[in-house]
Amino acid sequence: MSQAIDRRERLRKVGLKATTPRLAVLRVLDEAVGPLAHADVVAALDGDGIDRATVYRNLTDLTDAGLAHRSDLGDHVWRFRVSSVVEPDAAHPHFVCNACGEVVCLPAETVRFNPPRGAPRALRAGAVAVQVRGVCDKCRRPLGPRG
Ligand SMILES: [Zn+2]
Ligand SMILES: [Zn+2]
Repeated sequence: MSQAIDRRERLRKVGLKATTPRLAVLRVLDEAVGPLAHADVVAALDGDGIDRATVYRNLTDLTDAGLAHRSDLGDHVWRFRVSSVVEPDAAHPHFVCNACGEVVCLPAETVRFNPPRGAPRALRAGAVAVQVRGVCDKCRRPLGPRG
């Protein structure tokens, strides 16, 4: 599969060995719809025999090498996102699911400010982290008992 070759190439370019766990962690980040916490990546690789410490080390390696961005979206949890896909996570709003905790990147124009006089200048400059919370489509149950 060409994406897999591409991942090897991306690792090689930044001087990282294309180990099996590293390729797996990079694949999870590539396929994610938003930034992922360490625990999310561990859960995604559940069954692949890659332990938590290895996942953490590889996330750190990918970040140090510039293949991933790390950001704290305001809840003091580091989340990781591949740098090739989007601009840094500080630059756009995020939807966070109250039920499962999934974070989805939203286009910048999803949230527009209309700052009143006297509001912090950061609002006008867009220099604020925006987080919208609610329940994601997967967790929403239109009818029936809660489980
Ligand atoms: Zn959810
Ligand atoms: Zn994002």
